[in-house]
Amino acid sequence: MNATLKRLFEAARHLYLDPGFLENLETPLELIQARLTIAMDDGSTRCFLGYRCRYDDTRGPTKGGIRYTKDVDAYDVVELALMMTLKCSLLELPFGGAKGGVVVDPNSLSKMELERLDRAYARAFYRVLGPDRDIPAPDMATNETTMAHMADEYYTIVGKKTPAVITGKPVALGGSLGRDDATARGGFYIMRHKADTLGFKSKMTVVIIGCGNAGMHYARLAAAAGCKIVAVSDSKGGVGNHAGLDINQLKAVKSRGSVTGMLGSTGVFELSGDAMLAVPCDLLVMAAKENMVHAGNAGSIKAKAILELANGPITPEADAILEAKNVIIIPDILANAGGVTVSYYEWVQNRQGENWSLEKVHERLKAAMISQADAVWACAQEKHFSLRQAAYVIALSRIAKAMNALKMTISSRLL
Ligand code: GLU
Repeated sequence: MNATLKRLFEAARHLYLDPGFLENLETPLELIQARLTIAMDDGSTRCFLGYRCRYDDTRGPTKGGIRYTKDVDAYDVVELALMMTLKCSLLELPFGGAKGGVVVDPNSLSKMELERLDRAYARAFYRVLGPDRDIPAPDMATNETTMAHMADEYYTIVGKKTPAVITGKPVALGGSLGRDDATARGGFYIMRHKADTLGFKSKMTVVIIGCGNAGMHYARLAAAAGCKIVAVSDSKGGVGNHAGLDINQLKAVKSRGSVTGMLGSTGVFELSGDAMLAVPCDLLVMAAKENMVHAGNAGSIKAKAILELANGPITPEADAILEAKNVIIIPDILANAGGVTVSYYEWVQNRQGENWSLEKVHERLKAAMISQADAVWACAQEKHFSLRQAAYVIALSRIAKAMNALKMTISSRLL
């Protein structure tokens, strides 16, 4: 059983649920695997494995990103799709959950080969996609250009421009302002709102693991708010500076390759692997991959709180160790929900033919993140739950409510 399902079962013990209900959530609604064949620039062809999992659509059309990575498999896609189901429920978005993936090292393909792969994915899965059915978005190693290619291929196949079929598109092609940094911004709004409750001083010290879209935007937002970024890492390595890393230099070296480009600057020292976790700080931002904090390294963490900007960065075993050390974890389905929340705003704008201002997007995102964070904190306090347990219980209870409402509709139809 995957960690998300385990946590779901744990949460279910605190709710009065219809017996058949959990059984429904034990397996995905559908999981499709497809062969994606593309022409390579040298005239040869190559095949890649593609997946799309629609986990549950009780609360609405399924929603979730597509990742391109060497180590994705059907199990990951299923677990991540369940996570999306819970995330959309927690944020009260009218969506179920889904996830997609392609087993590929995107760095090994040229720009043209990548575009062919994006289009092949849309051709393989267009039957399950649709603005009222399943709506993809970017995830690990995919971006607005990936979404533009997929949307364009989809429009060609169905013969209609239906931009609400995919979110995270370029703004010029119907994307929403504010979608690019929405994941980091959502987490940042929560941290700003809860800084006092967590006992942080105004100049919070921050360590960021993973400097992709979410991690880099978080660094920028936190630095602009006066926080001190004491260490950052990416797949190539990590760097630290007790006096705080210079954010402009960080942006510059990252755009040229890796954060390790900062080595050699005054006060900057190298940090490798798990040493990143042991850096003393107020907030540790996990913005890289799954399962990076596990039973073997959780004990070394010195942060007061952890923000899960990535999906599933902490294993259930590590959760227990961190709880015993009183480290507060702001769980992924809340912490990184800003991305899918602004995806929802994009979907609404596309369906209504509207373009919202950046201020409107930020205002709505802030209100949504703060109100759901308050709900999670209140539930945790009242029931003596961890924030993760509270988030799962709330998300699950909203899905249960929808399933119950449906059941009543069905039975009344039978009468
Ligand atoms: N991939 C992001 C996530 O895991 C965003 C999904 C979306 O916008 O649909 O939440």
